[in-house]
This record gives sequence, C-alpha cells and structure tokens, in this order.
Amino acid sequence: AAGRPVAYLDGLNPAQRAAVEALEGPVLMLAGAGTGKTRALTARIAHLLTTGHARPGDILAVTFTNKAAREMKERIGRLLGQTVEGMPWLGTFHSVCAKLLRRHAELVGLKSNFTILDTDDQIRLLKQLIVAANIDEKRWPARQLAGIIDGWKNRALTPDRVRGGEAGAFNNRGGELYAAYQERLRTLNATDFGDLLLHMVTIFQAQPDVLEQYQRRFKYILVDEYQDTNVAQYLWLRLLAQGHRNICCVGDDDQSIYGWRGAEVGNILRFEKDFPGAKVVRLEQNYRSTEHILAAASGLIAANAGRLGKTLWTEARGGEKVRLIGHWDGEEEARWIGEEIEALARGTRGMAPVGLNGQAILVRASHQMRAFEDRFLTIGLPYRVIGGPRFYERLEIRDAMAYFRLAVSPEDDLAFERIVNTPKRGLGDKAQQVIQLTARQNGVSLLEGAALAVQAGAIGGKGGAALRELVAGAGRWHQAVRAGGSHIELAEAILDESGYTAMWQADKTPEAAGRLENLKELVKALEQFENLQGFLEHVALIMDNESEDAAEKVSIMTLHAAKGLEFPVVFLPGWEEGLFPSQRSMDETGLKGLEEERRLAYVGITRAEELCTISFAGNRRVYGQWQSQLPSRFIDELPEAHVDVLTPPGLYGGGYGAAGMAFGATRGGIEDRAMRADVYNSPGWKRMAERAGSRPMASPREARGLVIDAEAVSAFAPGDRVFHQKFGYGTVTGTEGDKLTVAFDKAGEKKLLAGFVVAATA
Ligand code: ATP
Ligand code: MG
Repeated sequence: AAGRPVAYLDGLNPAQRAAVEALEGPVLMLAGAGTGKTRALTARIAHLLTTGHARPGDILAVTFTNKAAREMKERIGRLLGQTVEGMPWLGTFHSVCAKLLRRHAELVGLKSNFTILDTDDQIRLLKQLIVAANIDEKRWPARQLAGIIDGWKNRALTPDRVRGGEAGAFNNRGGELYAAYQERLRTLNATDFGDLLLHMVTIFQAQPDVLEQYQRRFKYILVDEYQDTNVAQYLWLRLLAQGHRNICCVGDDDQSIYGWRGAEVGNILRFEKDFPGAKVVRLEQNYRSTEHILAAASGLIAANAGRLGKTLWTEARGGEKVRLIGHWDGEEEARWIGEEIEALARGTRGMAPVGLNGQAILVRASHQMRAFEDRFLTIGLPYRVIGGPRFYERLEIRDAMAYFRLAVSPEDDLAFERIVNTPKRGLGDKAQQVIQLTARQNGVSLLEGAALAVQAGAIGGKGGAALRELVAGAGRWHQAVRAGGSHIELAEAILDESGYTAMWQADKTPEAAGRLENLKELVKALEQFENLQGFLEHVALIMDNESEDAAEKVSIMTLHAAKGLEFPVVFLPGWEEGLFPSQRSMDETGLKGLEEERRLAYVGITRAEELCTISFAGNRRVYGQWQSQLPSRFIDELPEAHVDVLTPPGLYGGGYGAAGMAFGATRGGIEDRAMRADVYNSPGWKRMAERAGSRPMASPREARGLVIDAEAVSAFAPGDRVFHQKFGYGTVTGTEGDKLTVAFDKAGEKKLLAGFVVAATA
C-alpha cells in the first residue's frame, strides 16, 4: 500500500481493483454490460506483468474475436506505457489452440504443417463421403452433416464418444460418417475449425505429461466473454487451470448469444463448483451508457426468465431517451438513418458532433446490410462492414453475379469458370480441361468452347447432359438480355433455371437460410436499376472503391459481431417480428430461442454510449413482393419512460391514404399481438397517422378492420375500392376463396391473395 499509485490502477473502482489485485486463486467477474469487465481484465494483465508475477509467456488470455485480441494487446501496451513484447498466448480459442496443436500434431496423427480447412472445403469433403456411402446427397445434404459434426465437436465428442441414438443422426449414418470424416482429414493432414479444440482436449486427456507441461507454463489464465464458451472450450480451460488454479473469467449471463453454436451459459454458473473458494466479483456501475439507455436495456432484459439478475446503475444522468421510429419501408429506414448519421456528424440537438467512427448500425441478419450499403454509396457516406464480407463479396452473391455476367457477356470466361460446376453438374477437372482445350483450339470463349464440346460429344454422361442444359440456358438468358424485357424476372429465371436457388434450398443448415435471404436481397437490389448491365456496373464500381484506410467511416455489423464493442451513437434497425426476433426463434417450441434473441437485443442497446435509435419498417420487399411487418415484441418491452417515439418525416403525405394505415398490420394474427397496442397508442404513432391525412388508427384491432385477412375476404364485394402496394388502386371484380380479382387502375386485372390488399378510402 506504500507504493506509488500505478497508472493502470487509477480510476478503477474498488470492486474492479479487487478483481485486478486478487492475483492468486480463481476469480469470477460476473457483471452486466459496460461495467468495465474487459477493462479490469486488461488491467489485471498489466498488473501481473509490472509486479513481476508473470512474464508475457506465462499468461494465457483468451478473447472472443481476433479484433478483441488486438485491442487488448494495444490497451495493455497503453496501460504499461510501452509496447508489450510477446504475449504469445493472447488470442482467440482457435488461434491459441492452432498454435498448440502445431507443436503436438503427431499425437493425433497429424504433421505439424497441417492445413486448416474452411467451411467450403469441409462441405466438399463431406459430400464426397456421403456419395461414397451411397447416400442420396439431395435428401441428406452435406451441410446438415457438417452442422451435426460441428455440434459434436463443440461438445468435445470424438467419434468413439458419440453414442446411442445420437450416432444414429443423419439417417442412422451420422456416427459412421463422422468417423470416416475424421479419418479422411487425417490422411489429408488437415483439420477443420472444431478440430483445433477437440484435438487439444483429446491430447490433454490422453497425455498427462503434455497437459502438465502447459499447466505449469500458464501461471495465469484469463478469459473474456466467458458466457459464450462451449463445452470443448470449457473442458480445455478447466484442464489447464487445474495446475496453478489462477484462472480469472469474466462474463455476463445476459449477453450469452451463442447458444445456437453450442455455447453453454451454464459454464458460468458452474464456475464456483469447479473452482471451490473462487472469489466472485460483481460490478454494478456502468461506465458506458447514459441513464435512459441503461434503463431501457435493463427493462427489456427483465422479461427473460432464468437470469442471475443484477442491478446496474450509472452516474451519467440525463442524455437522450432511446429513440423509437417507425418507417414506411426498409428503404425509407435506410434513407432516414443515413440522414441522421450525417446530421449527427455535423452536430445536432445539442450534441457535440459525433464522427463517423463513433456511429454504428447493428443488424440482426447480415442481409439487412445491403439496403444501408446501397444507400450510403448513393449519398457518398463512407462505411465499413465489420466481421464478415460486405454484401457484394459474399459467396452466394458472387455466384449469382457470375450468372448475371454470363447472361450479359457470354465471353466472360471468369464468370463461366466460377459457375460451370456450381451447382454441382458432375463436371470435374477432366471435363473442364476438355472445355478449356476446345475453347483454346477454336479461339472462342469458354461458353462457346463448352457448346462445341457438347456438340462433338466430347463430354459424356451426366456431366455432358448438364453442360448441354447450361449452354442452352446461357444462350436463352443472353437473348433475354438483348430483348430488353424485365431484368428482375430474368434474374429470377436465371437463378431458378440454373439450379442455383435449388442448391441452397436443398440445404438444411442455418447458413443456407441466410444465403437464400441474401439472394432475395440481391433481386431486390436490381429493382433500382434499369437493366442488368447497369446493375453490374454499379457493383463493379463499389468493389473498386474498396480501400482500406483509417478514414472516418460508419460501422455496419451484425449484433453478434458487436459484442464487447461500444459507440457513442448506435442505430438498431429492423425491429420487426420475424426479423428480430428471428422467425426461427419464434417457430421454436419453448422460450430458449426467444430469450437468446432478447439477450441479443440487450447486447445491441448496451453498445450505445450517448444515443440509441431503434427502428422498424411497416413494409419490406422480399423477392419483389411487398410484405407487411409487425413491430417487434421487444419494442413493447421497452420501458416507456425511457423511450421517445419519433415522428418520421412526411412520408405519409404521398397519397398512400388507407394503405398507410395498414402499416404493420396485415396477414391476420393481430388478435394475439394486441400487446402492440402500446405502440399504436403512442402519441408519435398517432401523429404519424394524422400526417397521413387519415383518421388515426387507435389500435391493432381497429387496424384489423382496415385489412383484409384470408378469413375476412367476404368483407369485400365486387365494386369495392382497394389498394395494393405494387399495383396501386383498383376495384374488386370478383372473390373466390381467399383470393380477390381486382381490376387495377394502372396495372390491369390481377388475381391476388386478399391479405395483400387493403380497403381504400379514396
Ligand atoms: P461488455 O459487457 O459490453 O463487454 P465490459 O464490462 O467489458 O462491457 P468495458 O468495455 O471494460 O465493459 O468498459 C466499458 C466502458 O467503461 C469503457 O469505455 C471503459 O473504458 C469504461 N470504464 C470501465 N471502468 C471504468 C472506471 N472505473 N472508470 C471510468 N471508466 C471506466
Ligand atoms: Mg467486455
């Protein structure tokens, strides 16, 4: 206590300080968002190093992302006033395990130069095994098997430990294929991501001498975001920590958002059992957010059952309430957010200007990013996408674009190469060599070469037939481009006829669903362009603009990727039923999925320091079809006292009339969503409706009167005036079942589902 105050201890509160200074023995820091867990963890490392308790190589520090690891290294450097030499064992679980495994690869039958396969390689390998096992790959897709195997690996189950009914997964062949897959990886001298941990756990369990060596080496173990560790990671840590028992884990049960990937929040709850005598530190002061933001987040998360429960407080009084705003549609939402960001960067509403680096948009699903990317490109607002490729760089988007390119320019050989065997057409290396050769010999494009090879019967069997079809398709698509018809219909036709959409539909994994969503987004993006060429040019320019610099940019990322980060200004768009919470979580029986979604919402709000804006849209266009959206149930769970409902700019003056009234309320099911009344009754909402030049809609129930559901179709009779999002105003000419026939003023006669039109007062 006599020593000079040490810089890195300055400004820590007593609880944090206790966690930093309790160097010996197990410590669990269990605390809510923004309470300084990561800061304390970082100070603890600095403390270990300066007091001479540890050298950099003695410390094992695990973070959740590489970005977090980099930031932690920088922070430690700053705390110590010098760059940290080494810290070789600070990284993610994967990076640390990869490093360890290189040293001990032979113990699991690998060489130290093993390759780490990415997901695509993994799938390709599994496909081969499935086919070799005489299983119909269409019914039992490789991606599904990959998901099952990943699940086993997350639980540290080697093939011999997968037992009973579980081994019977995947049409009774799961266990057997898993064993074959591991064998195959070994012959290839390769691992997948899950193996990195699994192999290390296996080694530690089977080789006590190796384990002991690392138990001795890692005198201090530190883990951030402990709530998101899975069983394999947990076992690995526990084995290592049994040596010195100096393990310090920090986490927040309310921020556990990786249950879908095998994370077990129970690991936190077990800590005291696994490490008897553990010092449990609770932090309650939040240093990140203002009062309203914190209260809104706390109010929301209170709806979850099965929490440890904690109180959070902040000294940051006042500030803006959490802002809530509804928009007409997703594009309007993107437009409004773009304008807000620019306004905030200039400095508005009494706030000091917030640079673009201080502003972030956090989305639930990556396909939501596209609308923002396009809007920001149009207005020239610099942005960066964090933790994942930008929309147009994604695998499925590049594939689809390659098809479009081929339709526009049949001589685009790169595009042809990309898609010739995607989806799989049975055109292996050999067949592709034949195509290359034919093209070269005749001095023509690959597509033409393929046509010639097909004619000459140079490629036989299934592959030959499939290639013939592709060549014919490409010819048709090119004709269609030249004929200048609807490029949206053409794009859809291309994706269907090529089998590309079907490929992802056959896929039963969560990833596939996301890719299909992205494809829909792609088609949606086309609507803003006159033709395919214009669109391709636009994208080419985007890709060219890609420059990595330190310039000020708005961040766009998923909520998952935002964990642990903070920004003065945060936008949370798309709070709509089916999007957030996701449809998947809503369809699940039980509340597990929904509660994880709610935790994700909590993570989102608590990223904000000064200003948090939640928004939703009444309509979203999916595959060229308008879909009406309901505001998220999470909106109703926000404590009113801390929320400001904003009025959107005058977008309802535009003659939408009754359609505006149907905002967020169609397709039935409104009855059981009466809780949404709060939103509809809010002053902001009423103002919004008034602006529309129509009678305010008092409640969802009333809204229901304005909307025709399937069962209410009889409410319409020939002669009634209706409005449809795409076709505009029209007159009902006939009814049949849940379908209406409507003669639209501009679009002519259409037959459509009653749920998609609303009564027009005009
Ligand atoms: P999350 O759960 O979101 O990961 P966390 O608990 O790890 O949050 P930190 O990121 O460590 O929280 O801290 C949140 C913010 O509060 C940071 O800006 C940090 O610098 C600041 N902070 C932490 N502790 C203190 C303190 N004692 N005094 C002042 N500021 C602090
Ligand atoms: Mg943190």
